[in-house]
Amino acid sequence: MPTHIYDIAIIGAGASGLQLLYELTQVDPEQKILLLDSGDRSTKSWCFWEDKSSSCFPFLVEKSWHSMTYRTSSGKTLHSKITPLQYNYISSDRFFDYFFTEFIPANPNITLVKSWVKEIQEGGDLHSIVCEDNSSYYAKRVADSRPQKSEDPALIYQHFSGKFIEFEEPILDESSMTLMDFSLPVSTPEMAVFHYILPFSKTKALIETTVFTQLPYDKEAYESIWQNYVTTHYGSQKYKILSIEAGTIPMGGKTLIKNGRVFTIGAAGGNMKASTGYAFTRMHQDAIYRAQNRSIKGPKRFRFYDKMLLKIMQNEMNKIPEVMDRLFTRVQTPKILRFLDDKSSLLNDIGLLSQLDIPLFIKHLLR
Ligand SMILES: Cc1cc2nc3c(=O)[nH]c(=O)nc-3n(C[C@H](O)[C@H](O)[C@H](O)COP(=O)(O)OP(=O)(O)OC[C@H]3O[C@@H](n4cnc5c(N)ncnc54)[C@H](O)[C@@H]3O)c2cc1C
Repeated sequence: MPTHIYDIAIIGAGASGLQLLYELTQVDPEQKILLLDSGDRSTKSWCFWEDKSSSCFPFLVEKSWHSMTYRTSSGKTLHSKITPLQYNYISSDRFFDYFFTEFIPANPNITLVKSWVKEIQEGGDLHSIVCEDNSSYYAKRVADSRPQKSEDPALIYQHFSGKFIEFEEPILDESSMTLMDFSLPVSTPEMAVFHYILPFSKTKALIETTVFTQLPYDKEAYESIWQNYVTTHYGSQKYKILSIEAGTIPMGGKTLIKNGRVFTIGAAGGNMKASTGYAFTRMHQDAIYRAQNRSIKGPKRFRFYDKMLLKIMQNEMNKIPEVMDRLFTRVQTPKILRFLDDKSSLLNDIGLLSQLDIPLFIKHLLR
């Protein structure tokens, strides 16, 4: 019999692992929690929209926007207020800093171990977690956020190539973030490219080239697209690069969703919206439910809509700018955001879907 048994072990101190850690501690601060992490953390900007009254780590939100910009592939700019929603930004630096320098040290029931987890050996009431250095840990429940590898050749990826920059002159409109800008004509049948902008002040912003494609990450190509975008939109304005944000997420693919006493969380647990890549608030909802031992059952129709969009991406990627243009020019942005968050009513869904290119969707429905 092992000498030390944890109530729960969390594998991975990333977005989902730390959110679960937080919510478990809110429910029962006496639980003995083991947090196992490889220590490998990349910089990310976690953004999400929610009602003002919602509460996804409000004390970590560094900036909120109440307006959003969408720029069509023909260069038309659409600004819209998104009230009662707001678009929030949490930097991974601040998130990690809070957890590792404040939250974990203040909770003696949490044990943080830096190690690479090799496997979980499931038992009846007790499960063992075996690490690369051959150390083993025992826990009654295990939450696993290790990423799952997909072998699906049709899988679409969302690649990010962004830079935090500071202009010499105060040229930015910091009141509105740009969710998608398709105006740079660089999309091809293999990849749909748009730009995403978070203006933090009149001089500082994250400008990110975002690519939907089945192709692997192409650093040089995305770098050149980024330069092209900045030159096209900001001309000869001088700027310096403060830091970079790069990464890839799979859009869909198989997730090994296990439930019961050994379960998956985060992207590995299917908490990332396949067609958008947004995951932060979904992981938070999942963490609350897991901590309270409740199960989430959302309407299945949103997965169906997602699959439709992914099918179009897989077969006619060149249609994506057109699909998005049509959506944002015909439907109010807050309605789109609620739809993308799986929170719209069936009536609203019908209204929104009726604005899309119906024959295109039917074609892929029948495929
Ligand atoms: C560049 C980028 C920007 C993003 N921006 C947003 C955004 O704005 N909004 C949004 O909602 N989503 C965003 N996402 C998507 C999603 O929210 C993030 O990918 C999020 O980090 C996923 O959380 P996670 O817990 O599943 O994985 P991670 O945050 O990657 O955490 C997994 C953890 O497990 C650890 N680990 C892995 N394998 C092992 C092992 N074998 N043993 C021990 N530890 C291990 C890793 O070191 C890591 O700490 C973004 C993703 C990327 C890549």
